[in-house]
Amino acid sequence: MSELIFEKSVPGRRGYRLPAHDGPQRPLRDLLPAEHLRRQPPRLPEASELDVVRHYTRLSQRNFSVDTHFYPLGSCTMKYNPKLNDRIASWSRFADMHPLHPASCAQGLLRLLYELEQLLCEITGMHAFTLQPAAGAQGELTGLKMVRAYHRAKRQDRSTILIPDSAHGTNPASASLSGFQVMELKSNAHGLIDLAELRGRLSNDVAALMLTNPNTLGLFERDILAITALCHEHGALVYMDGANMNALLGLAKPGDMGVDLLQLNLHKTFSTPHGGGGPGAGPVGVSRSLEPFLPVPRVRKTGKRFVWDERGRRSIGRVHAFYGNVGVLVRAYIYIRTLGREGLERTGRAAILNANYLKARLADVFPVPFAGRCLHEFVVSLTPLKACGVTAWDVAKRLLDYGFYAPTVYFPLVVDEAFMIEPTETESRETLEAFANALRGIAQEARTNPELLRRAPHQLPVNRVDDVKAAREPNVRWTPSQVPVSNTSG
Ligand SMILES: *Cc1c(COP(=O)(O)O)cnc(C)c1O
Repeated sequence: MSELIFEKSVPGRRGYRLPAHDGPQRPLRDLLPAEHLRRQPPRLPEASELDVVRHYTRLSQRNFSVDTHFYPLGSCTMKYNPKLNDRIASWSRFADMHPLHPASCAQGLLRLLYELEQLLCEITGMHAFTLQPAAGAQGELTGLKMVRAYHRAKRQDRSTILIPDSAHGTNPASASLSGFQVMELKSNAHGLIDLAELRGRLSNDVAALMLTNPNTLGLFERDILAITALCHEHGALVYMDGANMNALLGLAKPGDMGVDLLQLNLHKTFSTPHGGGGPGAGPVGVSRSLEPFLPVPRVRKTGKRFVWDERGRRSIGRVHAFYGNVGVLVRAYIYIRTLGREGLERTGRAAILNANYLKARLADVFPVPFAGRCLHEFVVSLTPLKACGVTAWDVAKRLLDYGFYAPTVYFPLVVDEAFMIEPTETESRETLEAFANALRGIAQEARTNPELLRRAPHQLPVNRVDDVKAAREPNVRWTPSQVPVSNTSG
């Protein structure tokens, strides 16, 4: 079976041909310097339009995506995003805007950015926002640079960031990239921050506590008010990783909890399809005392006009040259405006309801190490299947045969054989039932036919790929010597 478009190539085959032009005939070498002209035509595949359409349509169907499958990938909020928002973001008035457009010719877009900042302030209870960071992790980095600037301005030298052991890997990475020491906080038996442990770790060297709320186990930090008060008593700031904001929409505001800074992941909570490494947005919201440190330029309103304001003596500077990801910001704006206050609250409630429903449907088969009601996601342990010689990895692969994308596995690290499930609010009860039934069926298979699971998936174009090799030695370029010989497989 020919797999690559290059292998489908037939010399001379064409998609379409233009009629010969009737303008003046000037050879190419009159127009371009000789050294820039090819001596040989490029080795591009030669294929008919129909070959190309079928090839790429087929390839697109070999993928899992939110548009085709239930995608309960914990921590990622892989929800369905209304196509309307994509449609509007691709309007030429947004999509064709040049980054160097003078502000006077970009008033509509500047107004949108200005209003989006205000909407995010209202949703989170923060005082001001920067829309510059282009990812959650870049938002963390931006926030931590502001933490540093804040303490410097107070002539304090604080070098430690406290991070709970359940944190997303980007948290310690961002902290050490910003030059801080990371100190780990052990979670308590409920999977939450341990107040006594926190008290023991706080000192005048701690710059900030970096926490996720709800945390990566899907649990709300019930002691959040005591936690932020304790940090503030010691002169430390509280940075909240807001990637899980989906659970709080319309229900609770981090600003009210005493949080000093947070990032939002617009590509998770606010309507940008993600997963393929495309652009995201990680706006950072701050309390009043951190506003002077926000990146510049900021959008300001003077009278009826919107302008870029480059001033900011204490600003950490720019963290992004241009708003190349502005489409993500447009989508978030449309999403928030179309849902409104009530719609956002329904979103948060439905995300929580769906997670708890699914948890209840699985609880008798898979233990939930940290019991109690979850918010938008939950973590089960597949440890019981170890007795059958089956791992969480095997179950994840088998789920693909059933037509479900696999949940996040082996994260957070505090749970053995972790399966982290986030159904999101956009799934129907029927889908949740079908998924629960598939997982229950697979647990049965583990007992009766564990080999079936160990060799899964059986229905997909590829079996188990070597993902370490794929990450370490990516090779996405075709060269002629790679033409597979028909009697080898791989
Ligand atoms: C996704 C996620 C991040 C990182 O966000 P990116 O946009 O992928 O950089 C950080 N923290 C948590 C809890 C997340 O879920």
